[in-house]
Amino acid sequence: MDTQFIAEMEQVILAERDEIIKKFISESEDFRRIMNGMDSKDFGDIAADDVATKKMEAINRHDSNRLKQIDGALSRIHSNRYGRCLHCGARIPEDRLRAIPYAVYCIECKNADEKAKRMARA
Ligand SMILES: [Zn+2]
Repeated sequence: MDTQFIAEMEQVILAERDEIIKKFISESEDFRRIMNGMDSKDFGDIAADDVATKKMEAINRHDSNRLKQIDGALSRIHSNRYGRCLHCGARIPEDRLRAIPYAVYCIECKNADEKAKRMARA
């Protein structure tokens, strides 16, 4: 795989990582504000805050999954395994990597995986 393309993807991935970390920081500031505000409120307000906290946790879970994928992609870049399907070892097309820079499966394996999941649910 062409090193210039990989360098480009690394920049994209690093930028996305920065974005998520910035979001984490601003969310934890919101979180602190909610927690600080709780002291002055009566118990009736706590339920609403609890909902806000749960919602924030859900967002963080989504972001922390993405961060894990991003870190995985970065480590694959550093160990020269980037752009290869984890399952069959085939090259992941550049178009797919541009769309999802931290994709780990080629389209065939991804489709097979989704099909298997659908079958498991049925
Ligand atoms: Zn594959």
